[in-house]
Amino acid sequence: MRLGIFGGSFDPIHYGHLRIAEEFADLLALNRVDLLPTANPPHRQALQAGNVARLEMVRLAIAGNPRLGLDARELQRSGPAYTFDSLCELRAELGPQLKLSWLIGADSFLSLDRWHRWRELLDLAHLAVACRPGFDLLRWKELASPELAEQVLPRIQTLSVTDPLDAGTIALLPTTPLAISSTAIRAQLATGHSARYLLPDTVLDYAGRHLLYQAAK
Ligand code: ATP
Repeated sequence: MRLGIFGGSFDPIHYGHLRIAEEFADLLALNRVDLLPTANPPHRQALQAGNVARLEMVRLAIAGNPRLGLDARELQRSGPAYTFDSLCELRAELGPQLKLSWLIGADSFLSLDRWHRWRELLDLAHLAVACRPGFDLLRWKELASPELAEQVLPRIQTLSVTDPLDAGTIALLPTTPLAISSTAIRAQLATGHSARYLLPDTVLDYAGRHLLYQAAK
């Protein structure tokens, strides 16, 4: 069993997220990728849509794809929800042998050293980094802080599905670059523009019905 985890605020979830989750599953031959909506991201500003709405949008977005699942654990926790805690919980539940891979986008990777207990994250899981337009992974050594570069460099490996290790390596995934962001979608909707084809219609309809990102009238 090879499990992938993909955390995000998903405010709202869009095709940039869905495509990297699909390619992550494909490239690493994962049995399942669980999308894990985050609550109150500690290093980010407040989210616009509530927990229930973000959860429902993820549910709608992954409907019909048996390889994508939903893990709501961080929304059920009170207080700050850290990826470190979620990975610890998953390790405790699934055992030390399970191959666990955690997906993040290139922008998140370049600021990994701002994450809670970031050095220990790699003891718990492999890290897979997806391409994101505007964040050049080929230049990550220049862009990352010296400490991050020093910690990360020895762990970067060529992608290998048959790697016997259960955690600890970093794979830079050659995912399709899609310049889609939740911030841009929220801005489009708030100014009355179309966000169609940037995210699933079911998610867009849900956001519209619940007036999640509309401009205040
Ligand atoms: P925002 O625009 O509000 O920052 P976002 O579009 O980055 O939102 P998040 O839910 O914050 O969405 O992202 C969750 C994870 O998905 C992060 O690791 C981020 O790097 C990654 N990600 C989001 N959009 C893309 C994309 N278009 N391509 C690659 N990675 C992405």
